[in-house]
Amino acid sequence: MYPRKFSYVAPNSVGEVLRLLRRYGDEAKLLAGGQSLIPMMKLRIVGPSVVIDLKNLKGRLAYIKDGGRAVRIGALTTHAEVELSETLRREVPLLPEVAKWVGDMQIRNMGTLGGSLAHSDPAADWPVAMLALDASVTVQGQRRRVVPVSRFHRGPFTTALKPTELLTEITVPKPPKGHGWSWKKFERKAGDFATVNVAAIVVPDGQGRVKSASIAVGSVSSVPYRAARAERMLRGKRPDAELLNGVAEAAAEPAQPTSDLRGSAEYKKWLTRVMVRRALEEALSRAGLSVEVAQHA
Ligand SMILES: Cc1cc2nc3c(=O)[nH]c(=O)nc-3n(C[C@H](O)[C@H](O)[C@H](O)COP(=O)(O)OP(=O)(O)OC[C@H]3O[C@@H](n4cnc5c(N)ncnc54)[C@H](O)[C@@H]3O)c2cc1C
Repeated sequence: MYPRKFSYVAPNSVGEVLRLLRRYGDEAKLLAGGQSLIPMMKLRIVGPSVVIDLKNLKGRLAYIKDGGRAVRIGALTTHAEVELSETLRREVPLLPEVAKWVGDMQIRNMGTLGGSLAHSDPAADWPVAMLALDASVTVQGQRRRVVPVSRFHRGPFTTALKPTELLTEITVPKPPKGHGWSWKKFERKAGDFATVNVAAIVVPDGQGRVKSASIAVGSVSSVPYRAARAERMLRGKRPDAELLNGVAEAAAEPAQPTSDLRGSAEYKKWLTRVMVRRALEEALSRAGLSVEVAQHA
């Protein structure tokens, strides 16, 4: 199907983008990689009267910078740029791994981190990884504000962004040296959106115990969630198979999946337990806290 008729502008500065957003408000849509917006326009799910292309801001808003205690990623950075970033491989290895699993090569070359977070698809990968990492986003409107990712996603395709705001940067605190991490995405076929996706970070205390853990779960609720009770169960413990089964059970508890083409709600709940358990085994092992691998959840 053809999209509805629209005007097209490609401003050269953030200031110009903001002026256009103020002028057109809800009538306008920002175009980043176009990998979600264009299909939605073609299917007439959205029909903006003005498309504001961000392509001329690539030089300003596509970067990955080591900022000391955090890595700063420009909103127009593509999935492929994250996948290939040496800085991220060294400092936040979870992120290049997540990038590898986003769609296919074409999607990764065009799609952007900012676009994915702003789009807020409940089955997207970046919101889950960023939640596990306690990342935040910088949003520029009439004033600049920083919003933790935990408060950014408000529902399916709904975020804290106002129609007059531009997402400019993602700030990712560096996990401590020696941390373990894991990304587990269950997909029906290569390049598909997730049935369940899980990000786990484990920080060891140097004496065989877990100092802290972070577990984020996606695709099985309206927005990704942090498995807070499961994280608490791990803290200060020497992990064993029994503990991990309990933690996986607790992590799946908040899931509220719906039955669809990817499986029944009951199956997805079970799958969440399995994927959390696998993610924890891998993250613990990378943190030097191997667990005797026994019966899976
Ligand atoms: C076949 C296919 C498979 C895919 N598979 C996956 C997958 O496995 N995992 C996954 O996570 N994603 C997947 N995606 C989605 C893909 O990652 C998109 O690139 C991403 O969701 C949107 O990024 P974009 O840069 O293309 O944004 P666009 O499509 O350009 O924009 C998306 C929305 O965000 C808004 N927006 C964009 N940038 C900004 C900004 N800086 N500030 C404010 N608003 C902004 C736009 O106005 C629009 O509403 C897939 C897409 C397709 C078509």
